[in-house]
Amino acid sequence: MRRQPPKNPSLHKSSSEHNEKVSLFNWTGHPFVDAGLVALLLLSKKHSPEELTGEDIEKAIEFASMLYARKEWSSGYIHAMILPNSGILMANPSMSKKRTPEAIVQNLRELLQEPEDPSAPICEICGRRHSRSKPVYRSDFPLVGTGGVPNYFPLAKDGLNVCSHCLFLVQFLPLVAYKVGGRVLVMHTYPYELMLELHGEAINDVRKSFLASNARDFKRPENFLFRLLGELTRKTERNDLWGRASITLYHFVNNNQGQDLQIIHVPMPVLRFTAHASREDPKGWKRIVAMGWRKRPSEEEFEKYERSYTNEVYAKLLAEESILPYFIDIKNRRANAKWSLLSFYCSEVLGLDKEALEFIRDVGDRIVETLEKLPDNQLSRRVRELERTEKLYQFEAFFVNLEKLRQRLGIEKPLMTFDEFATVLTSYGEDLNVSWRTVKHLLLFRVYERLHDRLMKASEEEEEVEENEEVGIFGMGVEE
Ligand SMILES: [Zn+2]
Repeated sequence: MRRQPPKNPSLHKSSSEHNEKVSLFNWTGHPFVDAGLVALLLLSKKHSPEELTGEDIEKAIEFASMLYARKEWSSGYIHAMILPNSGILMANPSMSKKRTPEAIVQNLRELLQEPEDPSAPICEICGRRHSRSKPVYRSDFPLVGTGGVPNYFPLAKDGLNVCSHCLFLVQFLPLVAYKVGGRVLVMHTYPYELMLELHGEAINDVRKSFLASNARDFKRPENFLFRLLGELTRKTERNDLWGRASITLYHFVNNNQGQDLQIIHVPMPVLRFTAHASREDPKGWKRIVAMGWRKRPSEEEFEKYERSYTNEVYAKLLAEESILPYFIDIKNRRANAKWSLLSFYCSEVLGLDKEALEFIRDVGDRIVETLEKLPDNQLSRRVRELERTEKLYQFEAFFVNLEKLRQRLGIEKPLMTFDEFATVLTSYGEDLNVSWRTVKHLLLFRVYERLHDRLMKASEEEEEVEENEEVGIFGMGVEE
């Protein structure tokens, strides 16, 4: 049985405060050290550092050493990607003859028991203990340069001042890291318990195969993260966990040929939106994501694409650019998601206020009310006009023509008052995120949502009549 974390948050807090004095390890806020701590916790099936016992740590040392003595780990992974020439883990190729689980166990124990030197500076990572007397280089701690590269740190300082406990924890990083696209991936989070969720799969893979996890063969770190987020939000209905969560991905390589790090920060509103989308409208969210590849994958191809190819929707979300255009599928004239998901995105991510959104939806409904009186082919042509607007004056003309149409059809109320018209066209113009193009996409969403079937029928007829080469249909589409 997996032990559950205490349900009562206040209890949890007081116990962690109480234990802070005695706990051997603490969360540090450093991704690599915290990743090592995550490995200890996952291996011991514990949830917070203060729950760890001496026995847990001893078992973890033995488990890690048993693996690290194997060739696939030492030369193929630790030396090649994380800690080149590591002496502690004996990944240095010159040590291959002496490398045994027992010898590595010995090194790790000694490291943990190393006496603190009170004259040494304070550890730059945890700030709790004195650092080791000698600085640490990249063979023992990823990405901190070598003794031969004194310009790595400010003031030509030599190496990293780190305490033996932080250094000990880093030695467990290889167990929880994912191998993604020829590099190593660590997902650092706040709250820290989310990191346990995101890295649990890595430890499970290690337990099953005795090999480091390859993240289901994902080649792109952000794609893997979005996939995990989707699964986790459906599994754990914990809004509180996502509401205040922060995630940063560290995708790096540290070997003798090169040291490189890519940092991907996931903006908080994007996390909240992804969690919401995966839970409230998973089909819609999948259709939106599928729009992010130039060639649309079929239902069967989706997972392959997701594992292998850069996705524009993910990239834009991470770059804090609008993904509104992906909510509609102009080619197939359909809304990709539910209005409620669009509304959540607009308010949570784009920062559009609820009233403005309601107003635009209302205008959309008035457009529908007008157009639905037309025969299919005319209906289709009018919508095409809106789809093709590229300039503000064309957008204006669409409304002016529609107003005339309403008069011709004998609809009593005007489409919009003058003030409303001005609002639609200009008042969002100042904000790049909420320009008239945003309004155009929202209106099209509403029109497609309500008139999709008739529009598609009309498009098919048009296609037959005009042999329109423009309407090619990619993929299979997703039928509900
Ligand atoms: Zn430390």
